[in-house]
Amino acid sequence: MAVTNKSRAKAQAEGKKVANGDVEEVKKQEHDDAHVDADDDPKGHPGTKKRSRSPQGGGVAGARDAKKHKNAYELKGKVATAEVAAKVDEDPPLDQLLRLLQQKHEKVEKGESVVYWMRLEDIRVEDNTALATAANKAEELEVPLIALTVLSPGDWKMHDRGPNKIDFVLRNLRWVKRKFDELNIPFHVLTLEKRLSIPRRLVEEVFPHLRAKHVYANIEYEVDELRRDIATVKKAREKGIEVVCVHDRLVVPPGKVLSKQGKPMSVYSPWQRAWAKVLEDEPELLEMSQIPSANDESIRKHEHFGKLFEATPIPDHVEGFELKDGEKIRECWPEGTDTAKELLDRFFHTKARKEQLQLVSPLREGAERDDKKSRLAVYTDGRNLVNGDHSSRLSPYLAAGVISGRMVINAAKQVNKRGKLESGRDTGTGMWVQEVAWRDFYNHVVATWPRVSMGRPFLEKFADVQWEVNEEHLQAWKDGKTGYPIVDATMRACKARGWMENRTRMIVASFLVKSLMLDWRLGERYFMETFVDGDMAANNGGWQWTASTGTDPQPYFRIFNTLTQSEKCDPNGDYIRYWVPELKNLKGKAIHDPYHNMPSSEFKKLGYPAPIVDHKQSRERALFRYKNVGEKEA
Ligand SMILES: Cc1cc2nc3c(=O)[nH]c(=O)nc-3n(C[C@H](O)[C@H](O)[C@H](O)COP(=O)(O)OP(=O)(O)OC[C@H]3O[C@@H](n4cnc5c(N)ncnc54)[C@H](O)[C@@H]3O)c2cc1C
Repeated sequence: MAVTNKSRAKAQAEGKKVANGDVEEVKKQEHDDAHVDADDDPKGHPGTKKRSRSPQGGGVAGARDAKKHKNAYELKGKVATAEVAAKVDEDPPLDQLLRLLQQKHEKVEKGESVVYWMRLEDIRVEDNTALATAANKAEELEVPLIALTVLSPGDWKMHDRGPNKIDFVLRNLRWVKRKFDELNIPFHVLTLEKRLSIPRRLVEEVFPHLRAKHVYANIEYEVDELRRDIATVKKAREKGIEVVCVHDRLVVPPGKVLSKQGKPMSVYSPWQRAWAKVLEDEPELLEMSQIPSANDESIRKHEHFGKLFEATPIPDHVEGFELKDGEKIRECWPEGTDTAKELLDRFFHTKARKEQLQLVSPLREGAERDDKKSRLAVYTDGRNLVNGDHSSRLSPYLAAGVISGRMVINAAKQVNKRGKLESGRDTGTGMWVQEVAWRDFYNHVVATWPRVSMGRPFLEKFADVQWEVNEEHLQAWKDGKTGYPIVDATMRACKARGWMENRTRMIVASFLVKSLMLDWRLGERYFMETFVDGDMAANNGGWQWTASTGTDPQPYFRIFNTLTQSEKCDPNGDYIRYWVPELKNLKGKAIHDPYHNMPSSEFKKLGYPAPIVDHKQSRERALFRYKNVGEKEA
């Protein structure tokens, strides 16, 4: 299905569903929130001077500092104060941007081109709202369409991006450039190291260089990105340029899933039912945008625009984000929307394969077509297993926007012969649609309570849980040397392929937070740095869920038993044997817990570490620390 979504985009561009507000407040807020204090007071509530902008992720503080400060983690200046975060929550940047877009502005001149500004979350030509809207405008004005993207290593560093993700992004940009080329659309790719300079550089240099007065972009929902867009829209207006930002990233945009009382919802199950109802009531949300029509051939000979086709090649790599020995990881995650569509098709129609637990291409031959036993059909059980490719493995493609949420949900709708979207827990398709809905959910959380992207817990009452400061444990976790085989297999798989299954993400996250009692933000940061699918909203949501600081209503005393989890998700130990070669000859229960199931002399011969914590003791420690926030056991 590919229908024009002009009406959806037009309604968005006019900002119809936005409340009124004061734009001056945006300016003031931007100024106030620009920095987070580096000098915390002893209660872990930093003051207001010398603050750094919109923190995410975090750093490890040394033990010496930990004694001086209550929450050692905050020392790196990566965590906003509770006060600053609360203030940002009061008037979230998304609302500010939408209000700004709603304001009437002077009639904009035509310009000589229309620009589509691609972000690193919408790297595709198909079903791309901003691209389609820009193309329509270009057609209306009878000027060429130009695509633009900004590479910002400064931004990537600030937001904990790593080589796996950046390499995947660059490969997909090259793929999309070829698509643009087929449509005679020049792709202007520019690198701006300093992220805070982006609005000024674009408005003063880039848009004039591209001779554009109309610019279109899809909205990114994180605080820094929204602030960048607010600043760009304002600066552009001063120069008579219109920058329009539209919803595209999610199946249902933020602000649409509300309780009966019209309030945003923070509990997933009722939220998900309301999400499904919105889709039922407003099927146009699933309408997909058309691929833009081609620019006239003559653009290639144009004295100015013609040069843009070759002027700014996409770099092979970016300094600081080089992917060493990237061959294998590239094989695991081949680029392009066509690949993503092929992966989706395989997930829907072919059976899971055990060999796919290895470091191999997802496009390997031999996938057996069987609609009754396909990975989708048996997803309700399969999603909890790690001994094969039970889930879709589309997360890198969805995170970088190589395929859209609408595309996958429409495809899921078509699986049902009656063309109805299943979203209940009783079928494989319904269960999978629920997972895709989680992606929308966590983005809604970020948009509604931006505090979560500022290093703050959603539940402020857990802000002062006392974390251990233990570099050795943190490193053992990262290296897969904890003595817990399922944790080690997962963490080694993560290093090798930049990805892990949802179940193992929960297991290793729970291990870091509740067993090692290390700050969840350290894990959040490491995942972002390592994952090929690193996605702020999903990652933060997953970590806060695990750390019991998030939206989940389950109490903190839900603590995963690592060994039981291991037996359930890898029943025969195949996953562990592959990723932890020291254990490759073990059979039976020993594979999950060799230390307690083998004579010590035999265990020593394995060359595998003994468990770095005792499950029972660490569980008690976690229960105490969560129950008595701010205290350590005597
Ligand atoms: C601690 C932790 C960190 C995580 N970090 C990320 C991350 O950085 N990027 C990321 O995309 N996902 C993250 N997730 C969510 C989830 O684990 C992955 O999306 C999923 O494992 C990807 O595999 P898949 O594509 O085969 O998923 P499938 O099971 O096939 O699901 C389809 C799609 O639904 C979405 N999805 C599924 N589960 C979730 C979820 N729990 N939250 C949000 N979206 C979901 C993803 O886009 C996924 O590709 C995290 C989960 C946890 C517990």
